[in-house]
Amino acid sequence: MIIILDPGATPEQRDSLTTDLKARGYGVHLSEGVERTIVGVIGTPDRDKSYLVEQFEALPFVERVVPILKPYKLVGRAFKPEGTVINVNGVKIGGGNVCVMAGPCTVESPEMLFETADFVKANGAHILRGGAFKPSTSPYSFHGMGEAGLQLLAEARDRTGLAIITEVMDTRDVELVGKYTDIYQIGTRNMTNYSLLREVGNARKPVMLKRGWASTIEEWLQAAEYIASQGNYEIILCERGIRTFENYTRNTFDINAIPAIKELSHLPIFADPSHATGKRSLVSAVSLGAVAAGADGLILETHPNPEKALKDGPQSLSFQQFGDLIRDLKPIAAAVGKTL
Ligand code: PEP
Ligand code: MN
Repeated sequence: MIIILDPGATPEQRDSLTTDLKARGYGVHLSEGVERTIVGVIGTPDRDKSYLVEQFEALPFVERVVPILKPYKLVGRAFKPEGTVINVNGVKIGGGNVCVMAGPCTVESPEMLFETADFVKANGAHILRGGAFKPSTSPYSFHGMGEAGLQLLAEARDRTGLAIITEVMDTRDVELVGKYTDIYQIGTRNMTNYSLLREVGNARKPVMLKRGWASTIEEWLQAAEYIASQGNYEIILCERGIRTFENYTRNTFDINAIPAIKELSHLPIFADPSHATGKRSLVSAVSLGAVAAGADGLILETHPNPEKALKDGPQSLSFQQFGDLIRDLKPIAAAVGKTL
């Protein structure tokens, strides 16, 4: 359940309440909004709920107590009605901003990474993406440069000032990846890797959680809840396409997920039209659609020479396409009241 404090509640009243809740054995999570504080209480047995609602509502500094029946609580809209805004090295994710993350699927060499970083930085990207630990359906494909790739990403950040995002696939690598990255990416194949979710939940760095390719919206929000339940509320959701019977495209972009997540959760929602379509000719149109539907940002694979990319070349934008897309996105963002 959540306890919504009165706007006039003092820090001492809030602390006495949280001490009391913890003494009863409940998990306590605070959401400090501009107007009021909301206290998320985890672990209240169903049979006690109505009695607890009455008891806490009687406190003079409590405005309202709401039992939450959904299987996700901390990532639900009610816990932070105004929406989460995450600040990554000065870049705001969520709120009225459209944030663009761009870069290669995989870090291949210093030359290609720096060339891409310089270009996307000069052409409107806010964050640099690049894989160092790559998941692959085939055990025989390229699995990334590992720590050497992380070092190159950090160098690209020093060079351009762009924050970086990269995938972590294994609980054993969370610490190592965290030494370099600004945002952890959890890929589609690991959305239900609950020990990994817990591990990044214990880290104090933002996490982008991609939707599992066969997961429902509710399962995805419960995966996000794993991260939040460890005390890390800086989560970005990313719709990257789901598997359907359609095989002209690599996946099917579920545009419904964008407004649905906005309704159900306070977390920022991104779109990944690269993996959703698998085809560079479709990426721009789907990007425009995602932003029009309310996405808080995009993650776009971009490569100096897509034909020669070691991974995901067919869905990687050329520099020309990336520049044109940013130009076309600006009026769409403005039309939905956002800035890019
Ligand atoms: C990626 O971003 O390169 C990637 C592997 O994405 P996904 O997990 O969505 O397939
Ligand atoms: Mn990729």
